[in-house]
Amino acid sequence: MHTVRVAVIPGDGVGPEVVSATLPVLRAAAHRAGAEVDTVELDWGGEHYLRTGRAMPPDAVDVLRGFPAVLFGAVGRPDIPDHELIWGLIIGLRQALDLAVNVRPVRSWPGVRTVLREPDGIDLVIVRENTEGEYAGVGGRLHPGSPRELGVEVAVHSRAAIERATRYAFVLARSRRGRVSLVTKSNAMRYGYTLWDAVCAEVAREYPDVEWESVLVDAMAARLVQRPRDLDVLLCGNLFGDILSDLAAVLGGGMGMAPSANLRPDADVPALFEPVHGSAPDIAGLGIANPVACMLSGAMLLDHVGLPEAATAVRDAVAHALRDPSLHPADLGGTATTERFAAAVVAAV
Ligand code: ATP
Ligand code: MG
Repeated sequence: MHTVRVAVIPGDGVGPEVVSATLPVLRAAAHRAGAEVDTVELDWGGEHYLRTGRAMPPDAVDVLRGFPAVLFGAVGRPDIPDHELIWGLIIGLRQALDLAVNVRPVRSWPGVRTVLREPDGIDLVIVRENTEGEYAGVGGRLHPGSPRELGVEVAVHSRAAIERATRYAFVLARSRRGRVSLVTKSNAMRYGYTLWDAVCAEVAREYPDVEWESVLVDAMAARLVQRPRDLDVLLCGNLFGDILSDLAAVLGGGMGMAPSANLRPDADVPALFEPVHGSAPDIAGLGIANPVACMLSGAMLLDHVGLPEAATAVRDAVAHALRDPSLHPADLGGTATTERFAAAVVAAV
């Protein structure tokens, strides 16, 4: 039997709730495909930080290197400064493993009402550069405390990182509707986003079968709301990808529905799969979190480790459960608990 070893980091807040709803689904789906998922749970996150002063142990990256994939819940606790956990764990892992490409599919689901008027909904993938841009962490404070104080945040866009994300987007578009929309602000920012335009034009020559366009982020925000169905693959830098993926997630049914993968396409390092949402402290512990984003992240994980039939079984089972409004969790307007929804998905698998 084909066994897939998966490192699991449930984390904080709703993280453990959505992860424990997801694991039985992945096990059942893998089993159907004649495989087994062997999980190792890692207790990293807020409690680890309170106990040791670090969100994860110093050898965390070495621990993860033994696994093809990581399933991650969420980190963040109201009693710990965000940067200690977010930088200390998830951004730290993305950078240490150089998981430079963040993939965030968004689609509509029959049975799930959204704010969109369009009957044919939304079906797109955001490909976000994950390690630099506006989040490169370059900058500083000048003249602290004085009236002339300056906060300088330098956006860094390297040709290498742009190329990596761009290639991934074009290859992905080939397997979909063949269209890449690069999102920039190259009319107002003269150095970084003009490089994106140039690199994308170069890479596009290698993929003559893929159509592409460059769209300003403000225009893209409007288009996402007005005509999302025309969009296929959105290629974004770090900041715009972050913002547009929350917007797109809501158009697809809400934060509880949006999965993601963090990948390094050009090397054999573990890929990390996580819901787009955070630890949702406002609903943590109530047992009402929507586990769909985590389950669909798990489906992306199964695709990544070579179990596409199992991945499809997860998506089909989620779709089946979503068609029944009595199974909808609170964020979809229903009253079902996380556990009840998860049990229905396992049964459907
Ligand atoms: P982060 O900084 O980690 O992105 P955040 O501050 O953006 O976190 P989230 O934790 O994503 O915030 O929560 C945003 C809102 O979405 C909250 O009101 C939260 O309750 C809701 N939410 C997030 N995830 C879920 C979920 N799985 N099910 C239901 N509601 C959710
Ligand atoms: Mg957020």
